[in-house]
Amino acid sequence: MDLDLPKSEYPRVVIVGGGFGGIELAKRLKKKPFQVVMLDKHNYHTFQPLLYQVATGGLEPDSIAFPIRKIFKGQKNLLFRVTKVNEIISAENCILTDIGKITYDYLVIATGSTSNFFGNQEIENNSMPMKSIPEALDLRSLILQNFEKSLIEANKDKKTALLNFVVVGGGPTGVETSGAIAELKKHVIPNDYPELDLKKVNIYLIENSPELLGVMSPQAQQKSKDFLLEMGVNVMNSTRVLAYDGQTLTLQDKPPILASTVIWSAGVKGQVIPGLDKAEIVRGGRLKTDTQNLISGYANIYAIGDVAAIIDDETPNGHPGVAPAAIQQGHQLAKNLVNIKENKPLEKFKYFDKGSMATVGRNKAVVDLGKIRFQGVFAWFTWMFVHLMTLVGFRNKIIVFVNWLWCYFSYDRGARLIIRTFAKDRSIDYRTDIPKVEEVKKV
Ligand SMILES: Cc1cc2nc3c(=O)[nH]c(=O)nc-3n(C[C@H](O)[C@H](O)[C@H](O)COP(=O)(O)OP(=O)(O)OC[C@H]3O[C@@H](n4cnc5c(N)ncnc54)[C@H](O)[C@@H]3O)c2cc1C
Repeated sequence: MDLDLPKSEYPRVVIVGGGFGGIELAKRLKKKPFQVVMLDKHNYHTFQPLLYQVATGGLEPDSIAFPIRKIFKGQKNLLFRVTKVNEIISAENCILTDIGKITYDYLVIATGSTSNFFGNQEIENNSMPMKSIPEALDLRSLILQNFEKSLIEANKDKKTALLNFVVVGGGPTGVETSGAIAELKKHVIPNDYPELDLKKVNIYLIENSPELLGVMSPQAQQKSKDFLLEMGVNVMNSTRVLAYDGQTLTLQDKPPILASTVIWSAGVKGQVIPGLDKAEIVRGGRLKTDTQNLISGYANIYAIGDVAAIIDDETPNGHPGVAPAAIQQGHQLAKNLVNIKENKPLEKFKYFDKGSMATVGRNKAVVDLGKIRFQGVFAWFTWMFVHLMTLVGFRNKIIVFVNWLWCYFSYDRGARLIIRTFAKDRSIDYRTDIPKVEEVKKV
């Protein structure tokens, strides 16, 4: 059934995804001669760079999310609907969603990426991804539940597993998450669980390649490792994960690790919507586009951000999957859609790399700004400033800033709440702790 949307004299641009790229594109189309329809499965925009702080009790989830409707308050040419887009039928210029069929003149896929388990179903079932707020909240619950369970667990192996925290993937997310758990261990756990033997709490960071932060400078790579080792994290480079059954993590050529918490940050892949049969999927499961973000094989379907890879001689592997690349692509596509309407020549995308940074813990961060590289306290303040400035919403900036100040002076992480228990057992609805209907029937 067709979704009933207001009619417009202007061509319709449907944007799937209210992430960094989609939001920028829609904002830039304000007051332009288009009807913009934005669709997202959530009613909020997620600031993913701070998800790890939600997962480790440092920030409330609301402070890193922003209502999409509020972003577009007053933008008269924009309609927003909460729905999941399930399929594209390009021959009919329409998409199928949970709420009906929507036609488009131009379609923009800005669906971002999802965790890549490289086809290993067992790891996918048992480890914890961290790409969305619900996933970060699951992880927060699991970490806290495992500390609680460890106090009452009599079996030695199970107790060991409950107190071992493994992060797989030594990119920025892995480094930041393992650092945050190490701070939790140092500053919070001794106060909350005075009877717990801290020596039994172990944090591992496992990375396949010989260095951490593969995209950063050798100085940043070395310093981040030094910081983590100083904070008590067991950094295991050149280590490959083979399997994880929920209790035992099997490694290649190394002894296994007993762990009830394994956080998977070892890779991402584009969230491609079914139906784009002519599109070429390149490395990282991304949609190949030209330098104007047009998906190869289509005349009016574009892709921007993490789901897209602009492939040309200068960028044979596409651009990095980071927020600035998504934002810049959204900005340029808005200009080009207007250029198309006005029969003007189209612009080629040129990525402006603003540099990269990662924080490891209090007073510890690494920053690469082209040839300018620095680490330590100043880098940490730079990291905090940049993240505060890029957070969407004044209220969120204030809340996060106050939280960080509080955390800095009190050494506390205030959001350590198990609001909804998390069960890895998929037969239990973890939101209610009630066995799922099929399971009840079986009983
Ligand atoms: C833990 C973590 C930390 C990160 N840290 C940094 C960092 O420090 N700096 C940095 O620059 N980048 C960082 N990134 C990467 C950055 O977040 C991404 O590059 C950026 O979000 C990509 O923007 P996007 O617009 O392509 O997609 P996203 O921001 O991921 O948005 C995609 C949107 O599409 C929606 N969606 C997906 N599929 C559908 C569908 N079928 N139907 C409807 N809606 C759909 C989603 O709900 C989401 O809102 C981090 C990522 C993660 C996960």
